[in-house]
Amino acid sequence: MRIPLVDLQAQYQIIKEEIRTSLDKVLNDMELFLGPHTSAFEEAFASYCGCRYGIGVSSGTDALTLALRACGIGPGDEVITVANTFVATVEAIAQVGAKPVFVDIDPQTYTIDPEQVNAALTPRTRALLPVHLYGHPAEMEPLLAIARRAGLRIIEDASQAHGALYRGRRVGSLGDIGCFSLYCSKNLGAYGEAGICVTNDASLAERLRMLRDHGSRIRYHHELLGSNARLDELQAAILLVKLRHLEHWNAARQAHAQFYSEHLRGIVAALPTVRPWATHVYCYYVIQVEEREQLRRLLQEAGISSGIHYPVPLHLQPACAYLGYQRGALPHTEACATRILSLPMYPELSEQQLSYIVETVSSSLKQSGAAPAHP
Ligand SMILES: *Cc1c(COP(=O)(O)O)cnc(C)c1O
Repeated sequence: MRIPLVDLQAQYQIIKEEIRTSLDKVLNDMELFLGPHTSAFEEAFASYCGCRYGIGVSSGTDALTLALRACGIGPGDEVITVANTFVATVEAIAQVGAKPVFVDIDPQTYTIDPEQVNAALTPRTRALLPVHLYGHPAEMEPLLAIARRAGLRIIEDASQAHGALYRGRRVGSLGDIGCFSLYCSKNLGAYGEAGICVTNDASLAERLRMLRDHGSRIRYHHELLGSNARLDELQAAILLVKLRHLEHWNAARQAHAQFYSEHLRGIVAALPTVRPWATHVYCYYVIQVEEREQLRRLLQEAGISSGIHYPVPLHLQPACAYLGYQRGALPHTEACATRILSLPMYPELSEQQLSYIVETVSSSLKQSGAAPAHP
C-alpha cells in the first residue's frame, strides 16, 4: 500500500463536478481578477472566521507581509515570533525591514510561550506574530493582555489552522489581522497560490485592499506603493467550492487523529496535545519518537510517507545567521526539532490505510528497539 503525506487527487475526485462547473463560469465570463468570486469568497471566509472583512491575496507569505505593512511595521521595529514555523513567517518580517525576535515554545502544543514573550519585549517591539502551528491555536489571552499593555499589534499566522477554535472563537479573528495561506496542501487550499487576511478593523482592511493592488483604490491612481498580490478569480472559485466542505473535512481529520492517538498511545514518545480551550484541526498529525530516522526509513519501505515540520529551527538556519542566535538559545524548540514526525493526514484517509499506518509504526518501533514511551 502506498500512502502519501497528503493526497490532493483523492479529494479532487470527490469534488470534480463542482470544481469544473465553477471554473467554467469564470472562463466563460473571463473576468480574471477582483471579480465576483473573489468578493464572494472574501465575504464567506471572513464570516466563517467571525470577522467583518476578508482581503484575498496571492499567498500566505503576502498575507503576512501586507499585514505587517498595513500595521505600519518597518525598519527599526521588532516583531516577536517563534522559530519552529515555515520560513515565510520570518521572511515576511524581514521583507518589511523589521527584525524578527525569536522566543521559545510550549513544548506540548508547539506554540509560542507567552512567558517568553514578556522577557523578549524591548522599547522597539511593535508586534507579536503567533503561529497556530499544525492546527492547534496558540494561547492568545496572555498575548492579547501583553499587547494591550505594551501597545502592540497582534498578527496571527493561521496558515495551518483554518477553522480551529480558541475558547470558542476562530483563530485569525483574535488579533488585529489574521493571515491564512490557501496553498494547495493546507486544510483549505487552492489549486495554485492563494492567501487571505481577515480583520474587524475597517481602516486596516482598506489599507490591505490597496496594498495588494499597487496601492490603488481607483486604477492608475496610487496612494501608496503597494504590490501585485491579488487573489485571482480561478483560485477564488475553487476556494468557494472547497469552503463548503471545510467543516466536514476538519471533522474527518479530527476523527483520524483520534484513531491515531488511540492506537499509538504508549507506543510513541509523545502524541499531539489538545488544550481544553482549543480545537485542533490537524493540518499535520505530529508525534515524537527517539529513533526518528530509523522509523522514517521503515515507513518508507512499507510505502508510507512521513514528514518533518520542521527539521531545522529558523534561528539556526544560514539565512538567519545575521540575527546572531546560537544553538541552545531556544531549548524546547531545538529539542522538538530532533524528535518530531508528521504522519499522513488528509480527510480522505481510509480506515484500512489508518490501520496499516498504526500497525507499521508499532512494528517498526519494536523492530528498531526504540526507547519505550513515557507513561
Ligand atoms: C504555508 C505557510 C505559510 C506560507 O504560505 P504560502 O501560501 O506558501 O506563501 C506561512 N506560514 C505558515 C505557518 C505556513 O504553514
